[in-house]
Amino acid sequence: MSAVAAAEPAGGAAEPAGGAAGPDGTVPGHAPGGTTAPISTICGRMPMTRQISVGGVTIGGGAPVRVQSMTLTKTHDVSATVAQIAALASAGCEIVRCAVPKTEDALALRKIVKLSPIPVIADIHFNASLALKAIESGVAAVRINPGNIGGPDKVALVVEAARKAGIPLRIGANSGSLPKHLDALAQKDQAEALVEAALEEVRLLEQLDFFNFKISVKSSNVPTMIRAYRLLSSKVDYPLHLGVTEAGPPTTGAIKSAAGMGALLIDGIGDTIRVSLTADPVKEIEVAFDILKALHLRERGPILISCPSCGRDNVGVESLAVEVETRLKQYPEAFEVAVLGCAVNGPGEAGDDDFGIAGGRDVGFLYAHGRVLKKVDSEILIDELFSEIDRWIADGMPRPKRLKMAKSAALAMAEMSAIPLD
Ligand code: SF4
Repeated sequence: MSAVAAAEPAGGAAEPAGGAAGPDGTVPGHAPGGTTAPISTICGRMPMTRQISVGGVTIGGGAPVRVQSMTLTKTHDVSATVAQIAALASAGCEIVRCAVPKTEDALALRKIVKLSPIPVIADIHFNASLALKAIESGVAAVRINPGNIGGPDKVALVVEAARKAGIPLRIGANSGSLPKHLDALAQKDQAEALVEAALEEVRLLEQLDFFNFKISVKSSNVPTMIRAYRLLSSKVDYPLHLGVTEAGPPTTGAIKSAAGMGALLIDGIGDTIRVSLTADPVKEIEVAFDILKALHLRERGPILISCPSCGRDNVGVESLAVEVETRLKQYPEAFEVAVLGCAVNGPGEAGDDDFGIAGGRDVGFLYAHGRVLKKVDSEILIDELFSEIDRWIADGMPRPKRLKMAKSAALAMAEMSAIPLD
């Protein structure tokens, strides 16, 4: 078997069995009990990879898909960097990466690591001594490209330092920096070239008896990125870090990231994600959680469902949805609210959600847990919705068993319409 197939350690060394910690603390196929979930509710996953830990945040092996981002500040500007990390952490970021192009950046990491509320990864290219300094500064992991760090001897130095510090590495290839010797393969199939470049790095680390790492094979081309990760996932059981590189400004970047990562995550491929946007990195965290929430992989705050509107909309559903969305931002609890422009499909459309409103010219309807709760004057519809939500949260968020509606939605609406307002 190839050194990377099924991630068997090089040299035929036996993998640890039964979920015991393996070399460098990784746990093959380990389903975590008590995973670290510092901010949002977590959704368990089937373990498909071994597990690593970045500063106590578990990655792979059944842990929730972790959300990370990267600071845009000069890393040696400690106060600016720490302020940005704090903003990212408040938004739900679980791991942060900082660029380390100079010695002053590597040295600044010592303070940043102490002040950061989340684990810090040093992002290093070309310079092994910066990686060593970053590890001395106490980072939780180092991202290197073993192909450009100065040869196998330098890779061995970084690996030894990481082993001694008990921290993992992130390795992997990027469509913008494939090694020269893979040019021909890249022209034939860039996804295959990405995977081959990553596997060469994997083999290098395995030959050093080091298995504590995660891998990325990023591309700005979404179909290429999807094929590369699928291929890589079929060959190794190391945790995978997903990303679409240079995804673009917020709207384009969010769509490309959702398409690329969504296709993989829904198949269980991917253990940690970074949405790369040309924007404030806090936006990356919001988009990352939106992707994970849409796939039901993570929960973080309420989910708003709203109809697209049509000629039946007598209320202006867009402004209704914007107001509800704004007020929902204050809630850390995970629940679903539907906003509909009319009552035609109200109970049906809102039936799966915890709460819903359907607007009308003068009166609207309020739903809860698949049932019509009340008919309300349109002017106070949103206030009534939030009163009900607050009451429900205060009661412990009970979710009653959904009963099949005895009457059709249209009939229920017609009956409710006949009842005068209180
Ligand atoms: S809920 Fe009503 S307004 Fe909204 S799209 Fe459906 S029919 Fe149109």
